[in-house]
Amino acid sequence: MLFIYSLENYASRNNFSFSRKCSYFREKHAFKLFHTSKDPVIQRGYLYCRHKPYGDSSCCLWKIKHTYDQSQQCYVLKDDSIFVHNHVLKNDIIVHERKYVKNEKELTIEELSYLEDIGKFHSCSMAKVLETMQNKFPQRAFDRNLLKQFIKKIKDT
Ligand SMILES: [Zn+2]
Repeated sequence: MLFIYSLENYASRNNFSFSRKCSYFREKHAFKLFHTSKDPVIQRGYLYCRHKPYGDSSCCLWKIKHTYDQSQQCYVLKDDSIFVHNHVLKNDIIVHERKYVKNEKELTIEELSYLEDIGKFHSCSMAKVLETMQNKFPQRAFDRNLLKQFIKKIKDT
């Protein structure tokens, strides 16, 4: 599939790697559709980013789901594919048109005070903090560790 080759190119330029999981057409069915019986033909599957940004318990969200559409006679990407990584790509300052914020000194006064407000809620999970910040500041992509350290600092003082 051609798009996989262009994705490999994209991945190597951005220093991440992906794996593929897929299922294949049954031999008879593949022959009916493609008149081939040589190699297994992919019916559907997905590509996923192998990066584990926060240790073994997490994985990147990037997932490209594809399936063979028999009416269009081609492979299509499924709507629930996720094109966003949850980590920084190599040489990537702008993450999906958001400015990536990694250091505390890059935080604006507005962001700092908003974070301080969030930090007061002790039950707030890091996922929720990150989500709240991303929603409040749509032009910015915050480093998870940065937020974590900052929230910890607020709670400790
Ligand atoms: Zn990724």
